[in-house]
Amino acid sequence: DPYEEECDYLFKAVLIGDAAVGKSNLLSRFAGDDFRLDSKPTIGVEFAYRNVKIGDKLIKAQIWDTAGQERFRAITSSYYRGALGALLVYDITRRATFDSIKRWLREIREFGKSDMVVVLVGNKSDLGRSREVSEEEGRNLAEIEDLFFMETSALQNFHVEEAFLHMVTRIYEIT
Ligand code: GDP
Repeated sequence: DPYEEECDYLFKAVLIGDAAVGKSNLLSRFAGDDFRLDSKPTIGVEFAYRNVKIGDKLIKAQIWDTAGQERFRAITSSYYRGALGALLVYDITRRATFDSIKRWLREIREFGKSDMVVVLVGNKSDLGRSREVSEEEGRNLAEIEDLFFMETSALQNFHVEEAFLHMVTRIYEIT
């Protein structure tokens, strides 16, 4: 059972962002064959695992998904507890989801660890014709807020691996 494989580190990271920006699709892409969704219905979250090899170390990334609770503005401090990284996602075709990023960042800074590794992700890059947020706007916001930035497509599996792996690698480097 690959999930019982000995690992050197276990990291928790969280997915954050408005409803329907593509968080669950990004997670199932990244977790791929290792995708095993577990849930804690009591706190309304789901999570999946992905093993990542960095050098000779095996890291198990446990990634939490909101399971829709963001719809009710009900993400709680327990969701952030112990998380070393966050993928903060908006949808490039819906400006409102980009405007929400500042509010999510305030929440991350209130509930999360001060040195949490945050990657800003503009998802649905395959829908360029319906774009409402330019890549430059995303990049500028990331620069101002000191975040790593990437546009992705969960649909086309474009840059998904890169976004998650950047987060995991940065966590490994600072831990
Ligand atoms: P969540 O609520 O943030 O977890 O969003 P979901 O992962 O459930 O995705 C919401 C909707 O957007 C679904 O209909 C997905 O099929 C669609 N979606 C997610 N990622 C992409 C993407 O990269 N491109 C396109 N075109 N659709 C996507």
